[in-house]
Amino acid sequence: MSESIVLYFPRMKTFCCILANISLFFASAVYSAQDAHVHGLSHLAIALEKQTLLVEISSPLMDIVGFEGEPRTKVQKDSIERAKTTLRKISNVLIFKGGSCLEKNIDVILGHDHSNEHSHSEHDHDTHSEISAVYKFKCSEPEKLQEITVLLQNQFSRMEKIKAQWVTSDAQGQITLDKNKNTINLR
Ligand SMILES: [Zn+2]
Repeated sequence: MSESIVLYFPRMKTFCCILANISLFFASAVYSAQDAHVHGLSHLAIALEKQTLLVEISSPLMDIVGFEGEPRTKVQKDSIERAKTTLRKISNVLIFKGGSCLEKNIDVILGHDHSNEHSHSEHDHDTHSEISAVYKFKCSEPEKLQEITVLLQNQFSRMEKIKAQWVTSDAQGQITLDKNKNTINLR
């Protein structure tokens, strides 16, 4: 395990544990950000180890469907289902340059945080909600994975910025993506 990975994710003991426990890994990478759930700011975590590529996207539900809290009307429920369907189709979300990566698993999770209610005067909701999508790929040529382009803002026009953190076995970085800059260079 490289030193850079240890430094980058200090809470992780070994990289194999991330892969064994994806939720724990992304909990450290993403949910520290949830304290400061800011509308207009999504988070993206990318980890490439050997042939396994993990990607997690976490967004305020506001940025995806325009409301938060439990969906009440049919229109709200339908828009959440549409968003989930969009997120489950990888060609809507990510483009890889190199790497020969094939999807193995996609998980889309909707979470409502009732414990962290705070005033949000510009909105009527009393609960913050996030939607997360976790993608797992197997890349047969991981050393050739050069770039990942993130298409989310083409799908969800309310999204403003995406703070992306990435780590591979020999490099790491972070970049804030927006509508004009949507490609992450992993090399
Ligand atoms: Zn919110």
